[in-house]
Amino acid sequence: MNDLNQKNLRDRIVPVPQKISFAEGSAFEWKEGTKFSLQAPAFEKGPVHAAVELLKEHLEKLFGKNALGDGGVPLTLALGEAPEEVKANPGEGYSLKLSADGAEICGFGERGVLHGAVTLVQLLSEKDSRLLPLEILDWPENELRGIKIECRYGSNRMQRGDWLAAVDAMVMKKMSVLQIALYGCWSIQYDGRISEFLYFPVKGRPELKTPQMVKYYSPEKGGWIEADTLPPIFENDLFGEICEYAAERGLKIIPMWNSFGHNTLLPRIYPEISAKEEDGSPSGSAFCTSNEKTYEVLFSIYDQIVDNCVLPYGFDTFAIGLDEVGDSIAKDMKDPFRKCAEWCRCPACRDRDRGDIFIDHAVRLISHLKEKGIKHVLMACDMIQPDRPRSIGYLGERLLRKLEEKGAKDSLLIGWWSYHDIESKTSFKDLHPELGLPRYVAPWNGYYIWSIMMSPLRNTEILAKMNRRDGGDGIMAYSMWDQSFDRVHDCIADFAWNTEGAGTAKDVTERYARRHFPTRFVEARQAFMMTDLVTEEKGEKLEGAAPGGYGDEKQPQISPLYMMVYKLSGYFHSYVKKDMPYPEPFIPVTLSYLLPRRRDTERALYTASTLAHRAAQIYRDLAKDPSCDTVMADRFAYESENQACIADDWLAVLEMTDLLKEKGNAPEAAAIARGREKARLAHLARLEQVKEKFAVEGLAGRLQSTFLVLFRDLAAYLEKNPDAALDLREENREVFSEDFWKLR
Ligand SMILES: [Zn+2]
Repeated sequence: MNDLNQKNLRDRIVPVPQKISFAEGSAFEWKEGTKFSLQAPAFEKGPVHAAVELLKEHLEKLFGKNALGDGGVPLTLALGEAPEEVKANPGEGYSLKLSADGAEICGFGERGVLHGAVTLVQLLSEKDSRLLPLEILDWPENELRGIKIECRYGSNRMQRGDWLAAVDAMVMKKMSVLQIALYGCWSIQYDGRISEFLYFPVKGRPELKTPQMVKYYSPEKGGWIEADTLPPIFENDLFGEICEYAAERGLKIIPMWNSFGHNTLLPRIYPEISAKEEDGSPSGSAFCTSNEKTYEVLFSIYDQIVDNCVLPYGFDTFAIGLDEVGDSIAKDMKDPFRKCAEWCRCPACRDRDRGDIFIDHAVRLISHLKEKGIKHVLMACDMIQPDRPRSIGYLGERLLRKLEEKGAKDSLLIGWWSYHDIESKTSFKDLHPELGLPRYVAPWNGYYIWSIMMSPLRNTEILAKMNRRDGGDGIMAYSMWDQSFDRVHDCIADFAWNTEGAGTAKDVTERYARRHFPTRFVEARQAFMMTDLVTEEKGEKLEGAAPGGYGDEKQPQISPLYMMVYKLSGYFHSYVKKDMPYPEPFIPVTLSYLLPRRRDTERALYTASTLAHRAAQIYRDLAKDPSCDTVMADRFAYESENQACIADDWLAVLEMTDLLKEKGNAPEAAAIARGREKARLAHLARLEQVKEKFAVEGLAGRLQSTFLVLFRDLAAYLEKNPDAALDLREENREVFSEDFWKLR
């Protein structure tokens, strides 16, 4: 019999509840053969219905098909009034009483009933247990609690089941919103194509579609996978279905449509509405906002989404993006290095103040959506801030005045986004509460699911505390969907529900370790610490160091995050960069970072490798222990193996660089390359075993295959040319096969 004490009971509930109290008396016990009798208000659909289904499914999974029946331990669901202690969002609050007489959940709204049921499921998570009588009174501090799933690699391959599983996972964390990006464009990356993503088939506009190549070597199939694909959510028109499924579970879906920058497909297909270059030609990027046709196109799309997928499900929010507007290269497939205008140069636009252009555009979009019945319009913060890379000055006051003029002040919700684990690097000091505009914070979940796992828990903590201090409406984290980021997702859920109760990022990890690995939490906690250190963000200068001598404050230090994610993961070589060939030379560019500061980078690489290998070993041990969450342990093991693989690959390249300076060492270098080829192949096989197909197809497989072929080609060349000396700082085109170039 498992006796759950007060501490591990609290650790078990996600997110951290507001109030939990324990009483004397007989315990609530259950064991093999315990029967339950479930009573609930009759709802044919909606959150209360979902609560009943959730409990049924959970109890039957735990205790067998006969777990439910008359005369069993009573589990009662009810709707009731919120007591005065409930300080915010009462409709999502609930009380839960557990005693020897059974469990009573009272929701103060339908969603409260479901949240209460989720808590009960979290408490009843193994077969034989005893719980002291307890009472929970719980409610979310913030209305907005959730993530945004970007339209990018990974979500572009998610099938129906993957999307619904993501919704389910969010319901189990009592999140309230899921923003789904339906349209976004970046720059030219793979296959000479612009990275454009469209997840909503626009009726009457079949020309709008965004095919992407899937390419990788599959150990499972024993061959190359190569296909030109459309996103399943687009091809099978899944968005409405996801909305319906989420609405039934009380989760609000927010469609997101990039409506100024991050926008090449619309201006490319409809050149008339594109921003114009000085010579009057369409730039192929962003819009001319002086052209009425821009709004005709944009609003005809908005209206389809709003009428079919937002209003019918009782949703009331729409996201328009508007981040990162600025002239840039890599938007023209015929000439990747041409700088394309995003600020229109047509006669009507060219002399206008950019702040005015931006504000007029934003307010026009907001006003249209307001007329359509949308209550909240989400917009990114960066273009109204003075100190961001594409800034056009501080626009807060001007935006506020224009919104007031149009009576739309309360319709705008500004997302304050920043993705740093270091407070001083956060690009804003406050959420400008003086403007009185509704606001929320957007940390990220690590996002790069296709290259390397990060653990930006501090990022969430920093912004959550700012949200609380400045009276924000909550947290919606910029994300790609991946269960491997589960601990960060719990962090987001905890801080959004109960900022003070969540404590610190470290406390989140402690609870996570105890919840998923109750018998081995000390080891799990150590492994998480090591995992976090592999991609830890540090300032480039040593902080707090005394001037002069050792620890000089001017002395640079390696930021593991910067090194592992931005320099070594391989992904960032896919971008078109000024004064660089495209595709970018893979090894020389990385060596140009590693070699000049080799003393530091080599030490950092050894540290990363050691930490990642050690963490992977712990996770693999936990994955064999049935008292632990073996599924998550195996996933974490894979992610650590991935970190280790990246570090080991570049250590191998450094070693080969030394060897190949002189003739005669090629055979030894070839053996190193063969070793890495073998390691990569095994790791690719692990990827296919452990992660969902959408993750493999959504670039992870391709990125890994690039390293695989890189070492395979190097080994083959060196075996064939035992007298070769190679300078690996050069491109050495003759060494690499067609397979390598087609992956780039
Ligand atoms: Zn114009």
